[in-house]
Amino acid sequence: MTAVATRESHARHRDGESAERPATGLFEPHGPTLEDAILAAWDELVSADHATCPVCSGGMSRTSGCETCGSQLT
Ligand SMILES: [Zn+2]
Repeated sequence: MTAVATRESHARHRDGESAERPATGLFEPHGPTLEDAILAAWDELVSADHATCPVCSGGMSRTSGCETCGSQLT
């Protein structure tokens, strides 16, 4: 009986450890981030005066911003 009670407390401790793993996984970036997309669009705007909107994938220019959703990179 005593051994069973000890096992239960070990199992409970393991649950606490495994619960932390998904939380840290949320902060690991997978592939390009939003910041990367915005920086790439900004580079395009500066060099070509025209870029693909990182928000809606529409066309945007440096002077008037996105033609579709109105986003502007300033
Ligand atoms: Zn847009």
